Amino acid sequence: MHLNECAPVSPQLSPQDNSAPASTAANTIADNANTIADAAGAIADNDRYSRQVLFPGIGPLGQQRLAASHVAIVGCGAMGAASASLLARAGVGTLTLIDRDFVEPSNLQRQVLFDESDARDSLPKAEAARRHIALFNSRITVHARIRDLTPTNIAELIPSSVHIVLDATDNFETRYLINDFAVQRGLPWIYAAAIGAYAATMNILPAQEPVIPTGGGAFAAATGGPDERTCSLGWSVEGPPHLSCLPTACLACIFPKPPTGNVETCDTAGILSTAVNLAASIQVTEALKFLTGQPHLMRRTLLSFDLWNPVGLGSPADHGYLDHSEISTSTPRPDCEVCGQRIFTHLAGQDRAHITLCGRDSVQIHEHHRPVDFNALRDRLAGHADISDLRSNDLLLRFRRGSHTLTVFADGRAIVQGTTDIALARSLYARFIGA
Ligand SMILES: [Zn+2]
Repeated sequence: MHLNECAPVSPQLSPQDNSAPASTAANTIADNANTIADAAGAIADNDRYSRQVLFPGIGPLGQQRLAASHVAIVGCGAMGAASASLLARAGVGTLTLIDRDFVEPSNLQRQVLFDESDARDSLPKAEAARRHIALFNSRITVHARIRDLTPTNIAELIPSSVHIVLDATDNFETRYLINDFAVQRGLPWIYAAAIGAYAATMNILPAQEPVIPTGGGAFAAATGGPDERTCSLGWSVEGPPHLSCLPTACLACIFPKPPTGNVETCDTAGILSTAVNLAASIQVTEALKFLTGQPHLMRRTLLSFDLWNPVGLGSPADHGYLDHSEISTSTPRPDCEVCGQRIFTHLAGQDRAHITLCGRDSVQIHEHHRPVDFNALRDRLAGHADISDLRSNDLLLRFRRGSHTLTVFADGRAIVQGTTDIALARSLYARFIGA
């Protein structure tokens, strides 16, 4: 992110290190069939994970591996909350939740870790998620990071102890940043996105050089055996390497550049809770394969689906099939700028939006290479319940959203009035104008 030299940087909220396990007082469950709490009131892991351990793909060793694992989730909206909930219930030992936003009433339709009091209190999503997770699994560690992920802080927010990163962001800018970082570090990550009834997800398993993340020591201790974590991070299983152990395409192999023009967001196009939850379920299942040392079972495709509109329903006698597609991502593109040439422009901040504090109580956001089609944008915004005073001419488009006024210029530049909070202004821009 480039900040105007003359403008002070908006104070970032300090990272919240809330790693201490929450009180277990609320977790003692009276069950008329089984005693599932021990004498101290804590729920025994043997009981908690018994059904998951029964599944052959996990087993006792897999459960131990999950307990020794650390997953970072970037974004804690619908996708992030669903993925965090699933990973926490599965017993992943450490979660780092990174989110810049706060809970609003419109989140409650789909964001499964939040309740009405969170929305009333405008609680930061990462912290609200941490508190809710503590109510159903106090045995794991959750770090809530209330931050906007940037090139400057990504190494701090995603430390070397993280084994895999789950994308739950709402914008491509951050996804390309994650991709640069992950490819540079040899760190696997899983892209996931949803809008309307459509969702897509893709595993990115970069080559391991030059850095192999740490974490093997803890893993070896947990398993009591050789450091098999290193094997799994190398995409190899026992025996000779095979195709599924090789690196996959990265995000930039498939999408060399971020989308241009108006990009639909769930604040303009709406979103079906079921679509995002299905994508999160697939994302987390793939992560579980990796964390339990079975990367050879991970899908090597860009999978997308539309849950609402089946295909093949031309006549009453036709079958209707789920509209889905899978594009192979098995082979990196040789001329890929990121994983092929190892040029990390997003990590260097070169393609980062210019964001400046602009006068008193307003923020200017300058998205390069992103011309705005006012007619299309106006049509998208017109039916939105949160938006008022929508006006446009050939030079700009302006609307109000709550106490903020957004003014958008044809080159993609926008001024958000009513705040000096860069993260909030970026969030409004991403939601209503496009990420
Ligand atoms: Zn690539």
